[in-house]
Amino acid sequence: MTTNTNTRIQFDNFDALLSLKKKTALITGAADGIGAAIAERFAWAGANLILIDINESTLRERAQRLRKLYRIKVDTSFIDLVNPEAIMEFWKHCKVIPDILVNNAGIYPPRDFTDSDKGFIDRTMQINLGAVMDMCREMIARRKKEGGVIINMGSIEAKTPFKEDLSVYSVSKAGVLALTRSLAREYASQGFKINALVPGGIKTEGTSEMARGAFLKFRFNLFRDAARFSQRLPVGRVGQPDDIARMALVMAAPISDYMSGAEVTIDGGFLTA
Ligand code: NAD
Repeated sequence: MTTNTNTRIQFDNFDALLSLKKKTALITGAADGIGAAIAERFAWAGANLILIDINESTLRERAQRLRKLYRIKVDTSFIDLVNPEAIMEFWKHCKVIPDILVNNAGIYPPRDFTDSDKGFIDRTMQINLGAVMDMCREMIARRKKEGGVIINMGSIEAKTPFKEDLSVYSVSKAGVLALTRSLAREYASQGFKINALVPGGIKTEGTSEMARGAFLKFRFNLFRDAARFSQRLPVGRVGQPDDIARMALVMAAPISDYMSGAEVTIDGGFLTA
């Protein structure tokens, strides 16, 4: 193969490769944790935002801060994603159809599998997987002409279950990864870039709350698992929400335009160790 030294590489605008200017991104579970970090990274990259969460007061504060700091448009919707009708109502009244959808919201309540009744299973599956399907379906149906970006939140627990009492969670996240691959396969030709993030242990409000709950209920197996987890971490530190948010930016921006149906693990090397 010969190389023409006068030809510059394609996509040579460094900033444009990671810019989200003129894009609107919808992020679920954006009040706290990883979702809040993704909202901030996307705002930093120039996107306007539509943020969804059940936690009204925290989401309002986050939105206000992002508007002031980054001078972008931020809309908020307070929805309980366990409720499919509320999701449909949101899309019915959605004024700006987002270019980018990040299905981040998720719950990981620890419970022994033998105590996981139908109510518990249905709730976990609906928030973690059912709502993701609903959101993907509504977004794709509305953007069939122009395509778009979808980023779904998986978990290493779907690949290598490590912590006890998370089997229903693991199943829901395995479903998210299967959904991501199927939709990528089906809609890439229509201009959709659909990929999944697979985080390892990340310090968030949710994981801190889980630790508090375990302590109060004397569930010390969780602390044993956490200690083992840290010992196995090659990079030697627990992840921060922005570690995931930076990769979400890569998945959303033009730099990853040939990526489709990928599962990107960001776990400080945990799965290798
Ligand atoms: P978090 O609990 O810190 O934040 C989750 C956000 O989602 C909160 O703002 C919460 O109010 C919102 N939310 C929860 N249930 C909702 C509902 N029914 N309707 C609307 N909003 C709702 O969680 P996190 O640790 O940042 O996790 C975010 C995502 O990343 C989840 O999907 C989780 O499974 C995944 N994940 C997290 C980790 C980790 O170690 N933190 C690891 C792997 C995967």
